[in-house]
Amino acid sequence: MSARVAVVGWGAAGLAAARAASSRGARVTLIASGAGATSFYTGAVDDVDWSEREAAQALLGQRLLAGALDEEVAAYASALTEWILPPAGDPLPRLATVNGVVRSARGRDRTLLDLASLAGRRVLAPRVPRAGWDADALVSSLRDEAELGVTYEAIDAVVLRFADESRIADADLASRYDEDTRLDWLAARLAPFVEATGRAKAAVLLGPWLGASASRAARLEARLGCPVGEALSTTSLVPGLRLEAARDAWLQRSGLAVTKGRATRIDASSDGGTSRSGSSPGALTITVHGAEPVVADAVVLAAGGLLGGGLVYDPPEHGSAPEGPERTRAPFRLSIEAPGARVATGAAFGVASSVFGPVLDAAWPAPGAPGILERVGVVTDEHGACASRLFAAGDLVAGARRTILQAVLSGARAGIRAATVLDQPVPRTVLSA
Ligand SMILES: Cc1cc2nc3c(=O)[nH]c(=O)nc-3n(C[C@H](O)[C@H](O)[C@H](O)COP(=O)(O)OP(=O)(O)OC[C@H]3O[C@@H](n4cnc5c(N)ncnc54)[C@H](O)[C@@H]3O)c2cc1C
Repeated sequence: MSARVAVVGWGAAGLAAARAASSRGARVTLIASGAGATSFYTGAVDDVDWSEREAAQALLGQRLLAGALDEEVAAYASALTEWILPPAGDPLPRLATVNGVVRSARGRDRTLLDLASLAGRRVLAPRVPRAGWDADALVSSLRDEAELGVTYEAIDAVVLRFADESRIADADLASRYDEDTRLDWLAARLAPFVEATGRAKAAVLLGPWLGASASRAARLEARLGCPVGEALSTTSLVPGLRLEAARDAWLQRSGLAVTKGRATRIDASSDGGTSRSGSSPGALTITVHGAEPVVADAVVLAAGGLLGGGLVYDPPEHGSAPEGPERTRAPFRLSIEAPGARVATGAAFGVASSVFGPVLDAAWPAPGAPGILERVGVVTDEHGACASRLFAAGDLVAGARRTILQAVLSGARAGIRAATVLDQPVPRTVLSA
């Protein structure tokens, strides 16, 4: 009998869990509402903290090549079609930030310009009167990356068409370039500069403006006859919007059931979960705000960390008497009531450091040591199980790397475990750390 799997959250982890579980024959319901960390990712697809990789490369004195891709990650990327993930042994992409830093990544949103593939070319960056984009400063910083064999030049091509475009958000400008006519207008403005450099020698670097609902880089490249792409920005939200559009298209294609609303609690089903689909003792009922409850044989919690809303900061002094709280307790909790799931913050904060909660200033991230806000999460075993029939994935998991590929990988693994829960029931005991 195929299992009923409920997945809470539709960020990278939740979507990977839903895809993996449904590909194993599970009947999946995705419970989701709102945005999370996935909406904020920059378009760089990381498996590890990129600064760790840069440090390793500096130590070794050579560029690292792409490692093997997990097949679930590859299947996710091909379902969503937004990413380019080089196969094992290929060079890793080198991406420019809007601040002029060049860094590697395991993969990239297909709209980002990969400097590693541009040896011998001159990268043209238009001067655009917008906050957060300074082509002259950018070009001057990028020139330090001499080993890529790329040169850079700021150009006076006109990229903005209307007066408001110097002020509107990146996402709004990107959505204007969703239109073919507007993109062709841009191509006409850039073409003289590309021709002057020579198509075979030129490339164009732009801000995060090349489409909000899909990548427009390929069409622009076809018009100009040279590579074109965006620089990374940590604040634009544009790659996240493209990923959300790809998610919605995939959900439509796959026909997966989606319950829109926020899950508030998870309980053992009062009827043993037998009423909807025959026998399944141990099933769970998920209460969803503003929607019908969902009954499932297993649940994957992929509700994100503090940013996604899966965790909340709730120190003991909240709601306490003026003289202070009566008891200490962990200062973070799961936002969904899920009996058996335990939130841990790592050794330093396993129990509240004081009755007034943790000293967050003392828990600031350091190189190679993430801060408390990136460590706190739900305790799981190596398969993602956090309680009976309950699994956690992505940023919600204690100590997990906060990268988008880690979220996809842990989501897929949790989804597979959830899909096979009726064959391999998880012990009912609460897991220890
Ligand atoms: C500013 C920023 C930049 C980043 N840049 C990069 C980068 O360049 N490269 C990289 O690899 N990683 C990056 N990351 C990290 C990466 O984005 C995350 O690790 C990853 O997206 C986490 O995915 P997730 O699915 O676990 O969580 P989320 O994406 O947070 O998804 C959780 C989802 O659950 C929903 N949810 C929460 N509670 C409930 C509930 N009760 N009921 C229903 N739904 C609920 C939320 O609304 C959200 O949609 C960045 C993160 C941030 C914040």
